[in-house]
Amino acid sequence: METSLTLTLRRPGEIEITAKERPAIGDREVLVKVAACGICGTDRHIYHGSYPASYPVTIGHEFAGVIVETGKDVRSASIGDLVSVNPNIWCGRCAACLEGMPHLCAGMTALGVDLNGGMAAYCAVPEHLLYRMSPGTDPLKACLAEPISCVLHGVDRLQMKAGSRAAVFGGGFIGQLMLQALRMQGAAEVVLVEPQPLKRRAAESLGFAAIDPLSEKDKLERLTDFDVTADCAGAGDVLMQCVRLTKRGGDVLLFAAYPQGKAVPVEPFDIFRKELRLIGTFTYPDTQLRAVRMIEAGMFELDPIISEVALHDVADVLEGKRDDRIIKGVVRLP
Ligand SMILES: [Zn+2]
Ligand SMILES: [Zn+2]
Repeated sequence: METSLTLTLRRPGEIEITAKERPAIGDREVLVKVAACGICGTDRHIYHGSYPASYPVTIGHEFAGVIVETGKDVRSASIGDLVSVNPNIWCGRCAACLEGMPHLCAGMTALGVDLNGGMAAYCAVPEHLLYRMSPGTDPLKACLAEPISCVLHGVDRLQMKAGSRAAVFGGGFIGQLMLQALRMQGAAEVVLVEPQPLKRRAAESLGFAAIDPLSEKDKLERLTDFDVTADCAGAGDVLMQCVRLTKRGGDVLLFAAYPQGKAVPVEPFDIFRKELRLIGTFTYPDTQLRAVRMIEAGMFELDPIISEVALHDVADVLEGKRDDRIIKGVVRLP
């Protein structure tokens, strides 16, 4: 029996790393030897029990690796392929699925949330979730196809034109990707609002202006009339700030995952009087092919915003013990 290193979240707050039997695959599944897996804010919520998940579970929904086994009915994937994975499994039968919005599926399950995911040496993946990537791609970047796909979908939902001005609140990994994606979409000016120096410095190193909302309140007050604002922070009065700073007829993108049941202040008169479009965005239906292409072409600057961590350090990262040093942790699997 061949065993492999597997991270299991037994229940909220309890991680176990053990050697487990290699998972068996179904006829339409492949076995992926995981090369790298990103640690995401959602993983943190699952770790703390504040996001619905099926425990025990191997977390990790941002991963890439090499196919080492294929089920007998698999047609489009071969042993040796480097693939990134769309972790979301759509039912195909609910109203959202039937109306062409499968990412809003009422019966959605996901690898790394309800089914075992990528923080293990091996993961069984249905064939239709695979995106082949060119063999030379750095796995630490290939595994980021999922969050990049989410960001591209958010940007797709905007009515932004080239030459626009945009402000991003929150300089975590998603905020950093959002800055870059908005610039590539044609924004002439993109500003980050972020209290943590590490995240401001990363954005500044990539050519973005960054404002500290705590020590530079006056600067923040003077900002106004953005075509687009994006809430990638999900905290405090950020949504209200976004509404305040967006120009008449502009777009407010709500990307952040606020805790379910939490209410935040917002001034509805502004939305009404400025005819703002307040836009939610959740995962993605169709952007992973483009995300893969953009990663392969090196279009996102990822080196300054990712840090490699070991499987044994995942608990520390999830507990926030490295937040002063790491914007995005990515696990390289042995
Ligand atoms: Zn994620
Ligand atoms: Zn569905």
